[in-house]
Amino acid sequence: MTQTIKTSKYKYLNDPPVASSPFSITVDEDKCIGCGVCVMQCPCQTIQMVKRQAPSEKQQAACQHACPAGVDIRGYLAVLNNGGSMEEAWRKIIDRNPFPAITGRVCPHPCETACNRCGLDDALNINALERAIGDYALENKLPLPAPRQKKNEAVAVVGAGPAGMSCAYHLTRMGYAVTVFEAGDGPGGMLTYAIPLYRLPQNIIDAEMKRVTDLGVTVKYGTRIGRDITLDQLTRDFKAVYLAVGAQGAPALGIEGEGAENVMTGLSFLKNVLDKKPIALGQKVAVVGGGNTAVDAARVARRLGAEVTMLYRRTASEMPAYEAEIKEALDEGVKIEYLCAPVKITVNEANRATAVTCVKMKLGEADASGRPKPAPIGGSEFSLDIDSLIVAVGQALDAEGMDLPRQSSGWLEADAHGATSRPGIFTGGDAVSGPATVTQAIGAGRNGALAIDAFLSGKTLPEAEKLTVSYQDSPLSGKPRVSRNNAVLVDVKTRLADPAVEVRRGLSSETVKAEFGRCLGCGLEKPEFVGIQYFGKICIACHNCEAICPQGALSFPAYYKVVEGRWAYTFDYPEKKGLGMPNPLQLDKPAPLEEIESQITGVEKTIYTRRSVRVYKPDPVPREIINRVLEAGRFAPSAGNCQGWKFVVLTNRQLMNELSDSTKKFLGIFTKLYQGKDPLRTIAKKALAFIKPNSIDQRPMVAIQALLTPKFGDGQLDTFFNAPVSILFLTHHLHISEPELGMGICAQNMVLAAHSLGLGTCYVGFVSNALNLDPITKKKFRKKLGIAWPYDNVATVLTLGYPAVQVDRPVDREFPIVDWVE
Ligand code: FAD
Repeated sequence: MTQTIKTSKYKYLNDPPVASSPFSITVDEDKCIGCGVCVMQCPCQTIQMVKRQAPSEKQQAACQHACPAGVDIRGYLAVLNNGGSMEEAWRKIIDRNPFPAITGRVCPHPCETACNRCGLDDALNINALERAIGDYALENKLPLPAPRQKKNEAVAVVGAGPAGMSCAYHLTRMGYAVTVFEAGDGPGGMLTYAIPLYRLPQNIIDAEMKRVTDLGVTVKYGTRIGRDITLDQLTRDFKAVYLAVGAQGAPALGIEGEGAENVMTGLSFLKNVLDKKPIALGQKVAVVGGGNTAVDAARVARRLGAEVTMLYRRTASEMPAYEAEIKEALDEGVKIEYLCAPVKITVNEANRATAVTCVKMKLGEADASGRPKPAPIGGSEFSLDIDSLIVAVGQALDAEGMDLPRQSSGWLEADAHGATSRPGIFTGGDAVSGPATVTQAIGAGRNGALAIDAFLSGKTLPEAEKLTVSYQDSPLSGKPRVSRNNAVLVDVKTRLADPAVEVRRGLSSETVKAEFGRCLGCGLEKPEFVGIQYFGKICIACHNCEAICPQGALSFPAYYKVVEGRWAYTFDYPEKKGLGMPNPLQLDKPAPLEEIESQITGVEKTIYTRRSVRVYKPDPVPREIINRVLEAGRFAPSAGNCQGWKFVVLTNRQLMNELSDSTKKFLGIFTKLYQGKDPLRTIAKKALAFIKPNSIDQRPMVAIQALLTPKFGDGQLDTFFNAPVSILFLTHHLHISEPELGMGICAQNMVLAAHSLGLGTCYVGFVSNALNLDPITKKKFRKKLGIAWPYDNVATVLTLGYPAVQVDRPVDREFPIVDWVE
């Protein structure tokens, strides 16, 4: 979608191309990620962010992009932020995820890790908001929308865990008749068998699962496929089968004594507790493992009154369990012994384990998982007395009776859409990925449903489109910081007193409101050109917005063009003083990039696409790189090398800050004059504009106004755009032609060189105005900067620096970044 922004009827006085053809700025809304960098750097504030009618379909917010179920998080939060109801928000969620009250409690929320607010204060508490919306729907008994159509084909789903139930839900919505076969006696899979009640109450699982069965999904409990019914039988009775059997197996440690009756797997322990089976754990319990199952088992054992020690073979930083869960476990009194592994279990005559012998470990090279491989330290064995041992060292596939190809890791094999090599049999969830998360399983279930639908209707699934992520890595400095509303944790005493009490409370309705208000709505805004208004906002056609845009979404059509690999302006050498910029190469036939792309170099393409960036990183620029840029200027052709001039290279930020402040003060006076509303002044200005148009160059005034009152950013953008280097161009007193013209050529050469070295550039003309005209700035800085006769005119100031916003890097840097501090 491309939108052309309105042009202004006003013409800009000093700039011939603008005067002769008022320009328009084009914004490609599919490319624009709404980062606002263009607004931030606009020296004239002629661009502002406005709300979009609708977000681009080619983009996703970072949160949604990270969500394994693909929930439109930004979308449902926008509903709430625009005054919509919780029900409307819920409807947006269930389009992808039918179980928000469940995921709102247990999802490890990768969406929050991706949330752009992390760069500002804290991630939005998406998880708690999802829970609040999910709970609202349950409290208000909102039913899932009934399928709009009915299809004849029947589909079987094996396993009523989150993957199976998500698949059943999506297929039912599409109109298929779905029967779920579940080995156990209820839905939920690991949610019901393993996740403890203090994290996920059973009534929540039951209620959200029931909503799916209420849609007409039939569930046959107590039916194990592969034993009670064969897979072949299923493929005969149903048009398609989705296998979501999870990772029900629990591997053993493979050490002596593991057969003792008080040694159990984490999964069997958790299931037995949830099934309310009597378990005599005793006082001293050791839990082997560092994953979520191990932490859950340890915390449940604590709630049963045991003293619990976890034995983990790596260190805290490699522990795969969720960080928050580990912290809560430690708060509850669970002890963790790192860098140790059990080697033997001592068993008494009654077949009960009495002690576990461990060996200390040291970490070595990374293994296949990327984590450092633990190795035993000889002679470091130690023993721990135990009353019970819980072994939670992983999960395995239990697909007995199902003859299907496996991956080398042992999990079921399927393509990206979940199709196995047997036509009509699809699979997903933990059975394919290995132990993962509820939300991943929900996403996999939907994928499977889409693939089954395509298979049954003879369609081919389109290749997944590569989406842009809205707003990613955007500057956030101007956004207000607002504290995150965290869920309140129940105190440890209450937690341990009642094993079923939920540890995490939901947000109150006030905090829900405050929290969704923190959503940045990434990508829901776009830049809009406010036009060229005489005596108001004036676009100086500096092209900074176009050049800085990390997505290349903004363009000034037909303004600068490249011809035969060289660049030129679309307007020619000025006939009169003050009427434009030079075109040294006299090239005036613009060609579109596609036509010349094969003939131009990477550097020239960079120049053509103007990938320069005007917000800088503070990294110093190595001296040899600055020298190369200066060389490019010194040996500029024609007017360049026959002029008398010198460069002053400024790298002292303190000095630049002072010069920037002085410039702002000086130009602020004129800004007031030009921006003032006093009618007499306005008449005078209009008259002056009419009589002697070139006498008023409003650009620096407007620019400085923008810098004095930034609309975006934290107000710290200085007249050098915070560049680490500034080069002052001083011309000789006896300069033989218009100094600005000579400098223009020289400066262009330097800009090309800088770009090819990976540097961003910007001219900051208003600094030269202050240095030439303001008596205070002159007195304070000219001597310090070496500005004296015969080099007494500051023609322009060029900033250099590494870009703070990385663009699409068409040109590699020639030099590595070198630390260079003055
Ligand atoms: P499962 O949930 O395992 O469901 C599979 C279902 O298939 C089961 O109901 C099973 O009985 C049934 N089945 C198996 N074989 C057959 C057969 N042959 N015939 C019929 N039925 C069969 N994830 C999170 O996101 N957050 C957490 O906090 C979290 N905590 C966890 C804690 C523990 C202790 C465990 C073990 C897992 C945890 N997970 C967590 C992971 C999450 O529960 C799983 O990733 C998710 O449940 C996988 O869903 P699934 O549908 O693929 O498999």
